Amino acid sequence: MTKRIYEFICADDHITESYIDSELRTSNCKVCGQSAIRIISKPMVKLEGVTGDFPGAAMQWERKRNEKIKARTKECRLNHKHIVIFHNAY
Ligand SMILES: [Zn+2]
Repeated sequence: MTKRIYEFICADDHITESYIDSELRTSNCKVCGQSAIRIISKPMVKLEGVTGDFPGAAMQWERKRNEKIKARTKECRLNHKHIVIFHNAY
């Protein structure tokens, strides 16, 4: 069995690294202790895609996460707009 460093992300978006067995897909978040799913850094996605080692569940997780990030960016923009309007009022 191979052991290496993988990155994990929990439901609260904490990204932590764990040195674990390559068979494992989950770990516990080092920040909050919740279960965290293994994520694969960009160059690895290509490799994992070829070997079929990347589970669909993780893909979905990543997509949901990206949507979350997008939603946050939108929120930021709205706040920014709000601040601009606020400044213009003076
Ligand atoms: Zn966490």
